[in-house]
Amino acid sequence: MSSQSTARRIEGKVALITGAGSGIGRAAAVRFAEEGANLILLDRDRQTLSVVCREAEAFGAKSIAVEADISDEHSLAEAYDKAISAFGQLDIVFANAGINGTISPIEHMSKEEWEATISVNLTGTFLTVKHAIPLLKEKGGSIIITSSINGNRVFSNFGFSAYSSSKAGETAFTRMAALELAEYGIRVNAICPGAISTNIDQSTKPKPELEEIRIPVEFPEGGHPLEDGPGKPSQVANLVLFLASDEASHITGTSVYIDGAESLLRG
Ligand code: NAD
Repeated sequence: MSSQSTARRIEGKVALITGAGSGIGRAAAVRFAEEGANLILLDRDRQTLSVVCREAEAFGAKSIAVEADISDEHSLAEAYDKAISAFGQLDIVFANAGINGTISPIEHMSKEEWEATISVNLTGTFLTVKHAIPLLKEKGGSIIITSSINGNRVFSNFGFSAYSSSKAGETAFTRMAALELAEYGIRVNAICPGAISTNIDQSTKPKPELEEIRIPVEFPEGGHPLEDGPGKPSQVANLVLFLASDEASHITGTSVYIDGAESLLRG
């Protein structure tokens, strides 16, 4: 999976990436552009999108920026319309946009706070996949969903009940979708990153009541067995590229952990 390889893995393919303005989505946009894909870059933050668009275009990729909120079906359907009129085809969907949302003891979490996280992470992923199906059905394609170690292997981040539930929901949804869409040659896989250096903290709203539920857990210093610190978005992008490409042609319905063994230590 080195970027040194001469054969470009997704040359001429069209990929839609949600949450493309920052972090993992941005790194995937750059990696996909390097490998010859054309891009529909979707985010609710228009400013960051235009920066990423320019980064992708530096590799010769044709890319369009679409401002949309994945939890709003109308806005998402419009985004797909724009994409199809720009490129006339779709091959890869990276359903990646997500937020940490409110981090709170369950007792103190409001219904609105709970729903805000579920609505972006889980419902937004459902909508992203739903509206891709008519476009992917004819030729097949690859869908990659960004879940997390939280909700799948790790349950020790106190206050993350809404986030973890949304991320567990995403891996269940991945497996349901993989079976349902196999007959069309559409592969669906999830990635489960551990801590990755991105801007995710900006979407994190911790409540002071968190102290009431914290159970002291002892980690070795650093807490990342393989490398001394969190992973990089570019490392995650390499995995997404592999799952998007034909090199992963027999892989569907699976979750791939990308966490330097962090979840094995903390689970
Ligand atoms: P990030 O905050 O750097 O990027 C997320 C992007 O998604 C932002 O550009 C944001 O504007 C966009 N976004 C958020 N809500 C949106 C919405 N409703 N509609 C459209 N765009 C929206 O964070 P990141 O770490 O790159 O997060 C990407 C994904 O990775 C998320 O699903 C997150 O849960 C997952 N993840 C991150 C980590 C980590 O440690 N960073 C670990 C595991 C999983």
